[in-house]
Amino acid sequence: MFDLMIRGGRVIDPETAFDAIADVAVKDGTIVAIGALPEPAGRTVDADGLVVTAGFVDLHGHGQSIPADRMQAFDGVTTSLELEIGVLPVARWYEEQANAGRVLNYGASAGWVFGRIAAMTSQQTQPTIEGMGLAMRDRRWVTDAADPAETAEIVERVRTGLEQGALGIGFPNAYAPGTGIKELSELCSLAAGFGTPTFTHIAFMSNVDPLSSIEGYTRLIGLAGSTGAHMHICHFNSTSLLDVERAAELVRNAQAQGLKVTVEAYPYGTGSTVISADFFSDPAFPTRFGTDYGAIEVVASRHRFRDRDELLRAQQENAGALVLIHFLDVAANDRHRNLLDVSVMFPGGIIASDAMPWTLPNGSTYIGDAWPLPEDAVSHPRSSGTFTKFLKEWVRERQAISLLEGLAKCSLLPARLLEGCTPAMRRKGRLQIGCDADIVAFDFAALTDRADFTRMNAPSEGVRHLLVGGEAVIADGDLVRNARPGRPIRRPTP
Ligand SMILES: [Zn+2]
Repeated sequence: MFDLMIRGGRVIDPETAFDAIADVAVKDGTIVAIGALPEPAGRTVDADGLVVTAGFVDLHGHGQSIPADRMQAFDGVTTSLELEIGVLPVARWYEEQANAGRVLNYGASAGWVFGRIAAMTSQQTQPTIEGMGLAMRDRRWVTDAADPAETAEIVERVRTGLEQGALGIGFPNAYAPGTGIKELSELCSLAAGFGTPTFTHIAFMSNVDPLSSIEGYTRLIGLAGSTGAHMHICHFNSTSLLDVERAAELVRNAQAQGLKVTVEAYPYGTGSTVISADFFSDPAFPTRFGTDYGAIEVVASRHRFRDRDELLRAQQENAGALVLIHFLDVAANDRHRNLLDVSVMFPGGIIASDAMPWTLPNGSTYIGDAWPLPEDAVSHPRSSGTFTKFLKEWVRERQAISLLEGLAKCSLLPARLLEGCTPAMRRKGRLQIGCDADIVAFDFAALTDRADFTRMNAPSEGVRHLLVGGEAVIADGDLVRNARPGRPIRRPTP
């Protein structure tokens, strides 16, 4: 007998293009039958009127906690991976997640910056985005090229992370723009040797040369060509600023020549990061970003800066504080909306959230069990609504892309990106017999993000059921509070 039957939904598999009314049977966490299935099951879910498809695979989630998982579950996500910044040491991180219990499947890349912080400074740091920000108090790892001994140590630490099953290497290069190309090329060769992708926040963010975004992408493409590494570009929307059309042309050319360069984007014109990021303290920030200091907003207090002096003081006070950066005005500016489209609609491009941790007004990170989240918990709307916003606006309302193709950008394509080195991903991102029962069932007509900058913690609506490994995380639109079915996604190690 089956454990679970999802009855009568519109079943869509983004790989085979199967799209028909069918039942889906689950046993021991695996999809075991699809079709008209008269057999009884231990539990039955009525999916009449719902789309039933593979849960979304998010390559870029910084929250990595129970509250962050729950918010993403309502966004249709069943696997949330920390690949851009990554973690070190890798084995300890996986152990901590298993001990804490996770709602969604989780995994991480080897966090190169944490190797740099350890090799070049004496700081102890938590392998999180806030930890990276706090470590900017000693800026040697941010601004300097590593010497040969330091480079060797960084490479060794990252190698150990890969040997412990990391899903690739995270290169948040813009947070350490002083990094030398010799170091990066060694690390890319390391990734190529392990057959793992790398995940890059390009070194420079600027509309103007030198050290422009275009220079950043050109370096990245050069590393793909010279080392053979798969270079995945994180948040193509935000790091391209106003030059995304030219950046897209360069990436298309690189791909046409067979280079392994891929992109992801989130559907917002506002970014988020740590306040101490080097690109904010740069005296030329207004010219380079084409905006003033008012575009930088503290997440916890919603304060916008007047000038550089005030920003520098705030960086001193709390280097790990999270901020928003409003780089495109998609509400009022047609050209900006078109620029966002170039990144979101990039052919073969992936939707990834860059979901941020949840922060309380005192600046601390919220990792507690309250549901709904505390009224005053803030983050970025993308932490709640990336996938539902994309499916609602681009697929349903504007019909800029078909539902099948839209779903592929959320599930199949990210799974494929990783499956060369992580065979477990071959069973994700698809709704097929033999695949993991990571399943989302949503009401397409009602699907919507609800989080905006005034209420970031409003969960999306329309996801009626969400299963992770066959276990319900959302049932009939409600959170199953004690569900902790999340499992590690890890490369097999010898
Ligand atoms: Zn990020």
